[in-house]
Amino acid sequence: ARNACPPPLPQPVKIPEIKHTKIFINNEWHTAIKGKMFPTINPATGVKICDVEEADKADVDEAVKAAKAAGQRGSEWRRMDASSRGGLLHRLADLLERERSYWLNRIIKTLRYYAGWTDKIHGKTMPVDENFVCFTKHEPVGVCGAIIPWNFPLLMFTWKIAPALACGNTVVIKPAEQTPLTALHVGALIKEAGFPPGVVNIVPGFGPTAGAAIASHMNIDKVAFTGSTEVGQLIKAAAAKSNLKRVTLELGGKNPCIVFADSDLQSAVEETQKGSFFNQGQACTAASRVYVEEPVYDEFVRLSVERAKNIAIGDPMEPRTSHGPQIDQHQFDKILELVASGKKEGATLECGGCAVEDRGLFIHPTIFSDVKDHMRIAKEEIFGPVQCIMKFKKQEEVIDRANSSQYGLTAAVFTRDVHRAMSVVNCYNALHAQAPFGGFKMSGNGRELGEYALAEYTEVKAITIKLSEQLT
Ligand code: NAD
Repeated sequence: ARNACPPPLPQPVKIPEIKHTKIFINNEWHTAIKGKMFPTINPATGVKICDVEEADKADVDEAVKAAKAAGQRGSEWRRMDASSRGGLLHRLADLLERERSYWLNRIIKTLRYYAGWTDKIHGKTMPVDENFVCFTKHEPVGVCGAIIPWNFPLLMFTWKIAPALACGNTVVIKPAEQTPLTALHVGALIKEAGFPPGVVNIVPGFGPTAGAAIASHMNIDKVAFTGSTEVGQLIKAAAAKSNLKRVTLELGGKNPCIVFADSDLQSAVEETQKGSFFNQGQACTAASRVYVEEPVYDEFVRLSVERAKNIAIGDPMEPRTSHGPQIDQHQFDKILELVASGKKEGATLECGGCAVEDRGLFIHPTIFSDVKDHMRIAKEEIFGPVQCIMKFKKQEEVIDRANSSQYGLTAAVFTRDVHRAMSVVNCYNALHAQAPFGGFKMSGNGRELGEYALAEYTEVKAITIKLSEQLT
């Protein structure tokens, strides 16, 4: 029944019951050692949902102790058959499926994908010289720290824990301070699924305190981070200065889309716009630089503006809404400041460019045309619903311009010419549990998802045995 067509999604639960607001260590709920709490706000209304226990360095220490003990020689987790680890990941996916009114399919698929890998992570046998046999084992790295952002709270949680657990690691994970509740809810499901205490520990809190404690912890063996490039640099420095823990980074992007004149224009308009405005532009993969070939440029801009004006703005819990609020005042102000810079530097504001009246953190879908490569809106990550459209004349020119960014995350090309498509790039927003994801340049190090992610969560050990005589 696992692969059967799922029943239609029920209506979203508008005001979900909040059951868990504490720190999750050893499958138990703890108050913060320093006794502090912090509020979680609904960005659509500005109303506080609840207060959450605020983990700090001392709480991270407790979480790391629990994670280390859970992975100790002789522990239940260490002795568990690899296939049984897969069973637990499937069980967690089952529990999420039970709560489908809250959850997304991609999360469940990621868990099931890694559940299938647990008993297929194996090494090689090497034909070494003389009378030795040599083989490799792919062992867990140990205690894996994870620090995640607020824009896809549950997806990022799953991208971190699923490969880590599949490989037999234990985890200490810090959700973003804006979005701790989903992670804590899944903490309860992790316990219900039957994961041994300490295998997953969740420390809600802030970056410079709980996050920094993870990055510089002497007993954390690897840290996986998703967030801004600036903080990624801090994480790598902290890892280097502490115990040289391994680091994987998924950072920012300023992703180009190239629309050639021969493309299906309607589809290019739709896809680039989905890429720009999905999740209100709060995606590291956002299509934030759209290069359009000169002959179709005017028509592309016209169709894009027409479409943007029809986007349904409103309560994100309403199924017909496709455009909700930005996450918080800080991001809201940053976006409008960049919009102001675009106007000042001479880009043409085609639509949007301002807040939705009387609606707190909502910003109208915004389109700039006549954007030039030197403008701030063409170079800096906006992380908001702002589509920047540029004109190009030649393929060589546009490839150079598309690549001239400090970032290197995603890119797409729209054309009917398959030779050109193959020589230029890729398609957009096509993320799958089976395929690797990650950035070049200042967009990050390492890969998440797919078989490639397993290498980030395992240490390769060579085992060499001397024989009394050479094997023949
Ligand atoms: P952020 O880097 O400020 O925060 C991300 C996480 O890091 C949060 O959990 C935060 O508490 C923590 N953090 C902050 N300061 C820290 C510190 N000094 N030490 C340790 N941890 C710290 O990012 P943000 O502004 O909240 O999120 C938006 C950014 O995330 C964007 O730049 C976006 O591109 C990036 N992002 C990248 C990806 C990707 O996969 N490449 C995915 C989503 C978001």
